[in-house]
Amino acid sequence: MDCIFCNIIIGKIPCYKTFENDDVMAFLDINPVSHGHTLVVPKKHFTNMEDITEEELGKLIKAVKKVAYALKNGLGAAGYNVQLNNDPEAGQEVPHIHFHIIPRRQGDGLKIWKQTQYNKGEIEKVVDKIKGRI
Ligand code: AMP
Ligand code: ZN
Repeated sequence: MDCIFCNIIIGKIPCYKTFENDDVMAFLDINPVSHGHTLVVPKKHFTNMEDITEEELGKLIKAVKKVAYALKNGLGAAGYNVQLNNDPEAGQEVPHIHFHIIPRRQGDGLKIWKQTQYNKGEIEKVVDKIKGRI
């Protein structure tokens, strides 16, 4: 088994664990964007959003809520970002689905997304393409 997060889950690789239940584990990211940056992962191996079942995703997001609450209050953060990088092209380096919880502090200056504008007529086409696949 060469999945780094599966190896963390079975205890073969050490981690700074903050929470676990039967289905989910949370531990500190080793290269934090900010102090307390946490990863929340399912104990079963799923690659990404397309792979994970709705049931397991439900358990995972419930744990995200629980850990985010503890993280915000325990660390006195002003807020937090929850992020999922899905697919290598979207920055996913570890192919075992995980949510990042990134604590935010007043004036930390972190800007996650560079936003743009639609050109005239583009937004209608985009919405139709998405709606057509739901
Ligand atoms: P992503 O780019 O969304 O796949 O995120 C993977 C994250 O895993 C990165 O933020 C890494 O810093 C983190 N990471 C990699 N190896 C470890 C490890 N052994 N313990 C904790 N975090 C890790
Ligand atoms: Zn895995």
